[in-house]
Amino acid sequence: MKAHLITYGCQMNEYDTHLVQSQLVSFGAQIVDSVDEADFVLINTCAVRGKPVDKVRSVLGTLRKLKAERPLVIGMMGCLAQLEEGQQIARKFEVDVLLGPGSLLDIGKALESNERFWGLQFKDELHDHIPPPPVGKLQAHLTIMRGCDHHCTYCIVPTTRGPQVSRHPDQILRELDMQLAAGVQEVTLLGQNVNAYGVDGGAKLAGYPSFADLLRLVGRSGIQRIKFTTSHPMNFTEDVAAAMAETPAVCEFVHLPVQSGSNRVLRRMAREYTREEYLHHIANIRKHIPNAVLATDIIVGFPGETEADFEETLSLYDEVGYDSAYMFAYSARPGTPSYKHFEDLPREVKVERLTRLIAKQKDWSARKNAAHVGSIQEVLLRGDAFSEGFLEGHTRGNHPTVVPKVLGITGAGVHRVRINQATPHMMYGNLIDANGENLPEVPRFAPEAAALVSPLQMA
Ligand code: SAM
Ligand code: SF4
Repeated sequence: MKAHLITYGCQMNEYDTHLVQSQLVSFGAQIVDSVDEADFVLINTCAVRGKPVDKVRSVLGTLRKLKAERPLVIGMMGCLAQLEEGQQIARKFEVDVLLGPGSLLDIGKALESNERFWGLQFKDELHDHIPPPPVGKLQAHLTIMRGCDHHCTYCIVPTTRGPQVSRHPDQILRELDMQLAAGVQEVTLLGQNVNAYGVDGGAKLAGYPSFADLLRLVGRSGIQRIKFTTSHPMNFTEDVAAAMAETPAVCEFVHLPVQSGSNRVLRRMAREYTREEYLHHIANIRKHIPNAVLATDIIVGFPGETEADFEETLSLYDEVGYDSAYMFAYSARPGTPSYKHFEDLPREVKVERLTRLIAKQKDWSARKNAAHVGSIQEVLLRGDAFSEGFLEGHTRGNHPTVVPKVLGITGAGVHRVRINQATPHMMYGNLIDANGENLPEVPRFAPEAAALVSPLQMA
């Protein structure tokens, strides 16, 4: 069998795609790079907003046409698969294999089955399963928990991914050891709310460390860099900031979604913290990690958001001074409380506010990146950049960075870089030696090609 996988959505989905892909390989499948070469196409879906759902519909439309012309098995996994909305789409587009986020290990059974196979249960076996490490990659994801116990009124995730289940620390450390042995240098610990690790359904699990202590444990493994996402402000403790500060491998990067700067909106979102509490966490982070790089998620145009509420989001952005942000116009998702109880704002209002917020983010990212010019950063280079003669990577603070190639360095690994130019989305620098001297560059024809390098999305 030749299988092709398409992934939409978050880093958790990337991890799950890797997990299912490795299962497929263990059953003898060959992974191919395009739909044209494949006899099994599996789409890992996202249901958090309407746009990714529309994308899935459009890809499935194309696949259904192909299926009419040649033998093709169509599969759909992930959040959308778990919803009635996704199941209707699956029926319409003749999907053969449907796997919800809790049934990924049913992929083998699904392939053995000669008929349509739908797996929609949340199965415990998934939490003990350790996928093989990624091959030839310096970065890896590591899921430390699945599901979510919060009930933010706009969010479909608790429905699609079920309640929170923390993985046992032994499984996490075993998976990490395998990643280390495979050459991984940067691991990102994943969960919808990593700060609640070890406290499932409100109950502290015996034998599980707190998230802060898990960071300390992972920090002792020998891994060079540790990142984590996502943090929910309600469960953020000062001890997490302290653990970050005292564990050298933990990068000084915190992604702390705020969603809104207005207490009225935060209440309607059921976020369970106030603007003031959020800012208190930011102050604690800065107390322990003065050079912390801060990122956030913001939803604009939540039902009932007034111009004054939105201005509070803008003022909070200025008060924190984020390095980067994921910004979304509110998308009413069937099955969420806000869809049921609140009236959606007009699209033009949401688009206009999103445009203003993006302008603010660009301004802050430009200022923040410019402040790094002249500094020395530790950059994890991944390999060739879009422009010939350049390498790309990212800093401990997740800033995409591009450097000219130097003699003797192929690109993979952590290197010291002096930053000499910055845009809102990219930093440019030179590789330097232990004395701070520029390493000799590989001669190239068009040095100005640096300006053509593709903007790399922040991880
Ligand atoms: N668990 C994380 C947290 O609580 O911050 C976030 C997980 S969610 C999958 C990723 C982001 O999608 C959220 O932080 C939120 O900004 C955005 N999001 C979720 N539901 C949304 C909706 N209905 N409309 C627009 N954005 C949404
Ligand atoms: Fe969704 Fe809120 Fe859970 Fe994050 S914490 S996944 S936004 S319900």
